Amino acid sequence: MRVEYSTCQCGAMTVHLDSGDFSMPEDDFISTYGHEDENDIVSEYGSCNYCVNNWGTDLCACGSGEKVDECDGEFSECGEPMQSIEGGVTSPSNKLVGG
Ligand SMILES: [Zn+2]
Ligand SMILES: [Zn+2]
Repeated sequence: MRVEYSTCQCGAMTVHLDSGDFSMPEDDFISTYGHEDENDIVSEYGSCNYCVNNWGTDLCACGSGEKVDECDGEFSECGEPMQSIEGGVTSPSNKLVGG
């Protein structure tokens, strides 16, 4: 499966899927998709959802920018990831708002 993705100056990778764009650290990208192939880079961001909005598959849904398992916030979203590729969602709270 060809995976198109974008890199960012912050070091995060954004994967472009039919269900949306999902950001993650480079290490997570490599462990999930195996490698980087510069032929599949579709853009190189100066900033991305990961570093600007704290959106990522490993970041807490409350938007703190903390890792989902390290966030000590007390929001109802805490403990859930901001993005879930399997669920095709960005933010459990956005999902509620957007229906
Ligand atoms: Zn970034
Ligand atoms: Zn949190």
